[in-house]
Amino acid sequence: MLELLAPAGNFEKLKVAFHYGADAVYAGLDKLSLRANADNFTREELMQAIEYTHSIGKKIYIALNIYFMPEHEERIIDALNFLAKIKPDGMIISDMGILYLAKEYAPNIPIHISTQANCTNQYAAKMYSTLGVSRVVLARELGLNAIKEIRKTLPNLELEAFIHGAMCIAYSGRCLLSSYMTTQGLGTLKDDGTRSANQGDCAHSCRWEFFLKEKTRENDTFAISSDENGTYILSSKDICMIEHVKDLIDAGVSSFKIEGRMKSILYISSIVRAYRYVIDCIQSGKTLDKMEQVYQELDVVSHREFSTGFFYKKPWNDANIASSAEYKRNTRLAAMVLSSEQKANLKIYNKITQNDKLVLIGKNMKTIEIGKVQFFDKNGNPALEAKHTEPFSAILYDTDGNIVIPEEMDILRMESNF
Ligand code: SF4
Repeated sequence: MLELLAPAGNFEKLKVAFHYGADAVYAGLDKLSLRANADNFTREELMQAIEYTHSIGKKIYIALNIYFMPEHEERIIDALNFLAKIKPDGMIISDMGILYLAKEYAPNIPIHISTQANCTNQYAAKMYSTLGVSRVVLARELGLNAIKEIRKTLPNLELEAFIHGAMCIAYSGRCLLSSYMTTQGLGTLKDDGTRSANQGDCAHSCRWEFFLKEKTRENDTFAISSDENGTYILSSKDICMIEHVKDLIDAGVSSFKIEGRMKSILYISSIVRAYRYVIDCIQSGKTLDKMEQVYQELDVVSHREFSTGFFYKKPWNDANIASSAEYKRNTRLAAMVLSSEQKANLKIYNKITQNDKLVLIGKNMKTIEIGKVQFFDKNGNPALEAKHTEPFSAILYDTDGNIVIPEEMDILRMESNF
C-alpha cells in the first residue's frame, strides 16, 4: 500500500493536507522536532489532531528527531510518556538515545528512523530493523539503485523517501553552519543565542547570498554560477519527483514524503493534490492526462529551481547550485471555504477585491476560474471587498455565470504581484 505523506505544521495545515489527498501527515511536538520554527502542536492540540486523524481513517506520525543532549533527558521522557498515552501511528527518531528511551517508555508506538539519521545502505537499514524499527526514512542522498538494494535485502521494511521540497547542502541537517553563523551575529537569534540545525532551528545559512574573495589567487577559482543578484555557491535546488513516481514505486518506496512543516496552506494544498493525482493514476493504470495542470500546480506556489536530487546521479554539476536564491511565488492564498453551501462562509487570509482574479481549487485537481463573486459581511449585507480581519460569506460564479458550490476546505487563491 503506497502512502502520500504530507507535512502538518499546525492543525489547520493537517486538515488541509488530508482534504487534498494525503494518507498520512507528520507533525512536531513542543521543541523536540527538527522544525522548531514550525508552529508545532501543543499537547492539547496534538490529542485533538490524533483523534481527528483516526476518525477519518488516516495516520499521523510525530517527529522527535532532535539530537539528544543530556539536558534534554527529562523533556524527552516526558514527551515519550505522553505519546505512549495518545498513541500516534509512529514516532520519527534520529538519535539512538531517543530510540533506546522510546523502547522503554513508549514500546507500543512504531518507530520510524528519520532522514536525519542518514540511513544510506542496506546494512544500516538491517540494523535498524533488528532494533525493532518499522520504517526507515531514507537519506535524501540515496540513488534509486541503493534504494532497490535496501528493498531487496529487507522486503518488509517500510521505506519512506522525500519526493518534493527543499534539500540540504550537508548530509540532511548534519551541519554547523547555522549554529556558527548565528553566533557570529548573522541572522535572527533565539533566546539561547544560537540556531542549531541539529536542534531543529536551522537558519538555512547555506542559502544566504555569499561573496567569495581570495586575496592572492585571483586566477585560481572554481566554477560557480551567478546572476544579476549575486552568487550562490551552497544553495540547493528543491527536489521534485513528480515525473518519476513510477521509478520510485518500482524501486520499492512505500511512503512518498513531501518536505516542509513550515510551508503554507497554499503550498500544501497544491503539492499534495498534484502528487495525489499522479499516484492515483499510476496505481489505477489511468492515463496521466492532466500533467500540464500538475506542472502549473507545482509552479504556482513558492519554490526554488527543481531537480531530481540524488535519485539518478550524484548532482555535482547541476542539482545543488541555483543561480538565484529567490523563491518563486506567483499566487497568494485568498480564502478558505468553511461551509459547503451556495452562500459559503469564508476564512479570509488576504484582502480580496472585485478586481482580483480568483481560482477555486479542491481535491481531485478541481480547478475553477471564478468570473464573479458577491461578498456579504458578518451581518449579511453585500460588501464590495473582503478583509482578512473579519468573517465574510460569498456566492461564487464561474466564468459562464453559473453559481459554483464549493466544498468545505476548498481554497480560493489569487494572482500575486510579489
Ligand atoms: S544551514 Fe543549510 S546545509 Fe546546514 S543544516 Fe541548514 S539547510 Fe542544511
